[in-house]
Amino acid sequence: MQLIPCPWCGPREETEFHYGGQAHIGYPQDPSALSDEEWARFLFFRANPEGPFAERWSHSAGCRRWFNAVRDTRTHDLLAVYRIDEPRPVIS
Ligand SMILES: [Zn+2]
Repeated sequence: MQLIPCPWCGPREETEFHYGGQAHIGYPQDPSALSDEEWARFLFFRANPEGPFAERWSHSAGCRRWFNAVRDTRTHDLLAVYRIDEPRPVIS
């Protein structure tokens, strides 16, 4: 069982959380100007790196708040956890 450190509640079991996909995806500035291909890319295309990856998580069985985490996709280790209003930490 992996523990995930919620920024508000502290470490909790992973079963209390839900994955929310890639973090830091901005909504298009002018959605009506996008082509179908650009919309498809915005909606469905996400990075799939080997290594550190910024993700959104929800503490759905706890405080129900969203936060971001940087997880190493090779080991599943959480390298950083931070609130939505905080910038992504620099991971060396
Ligand atoms: Zn929480």
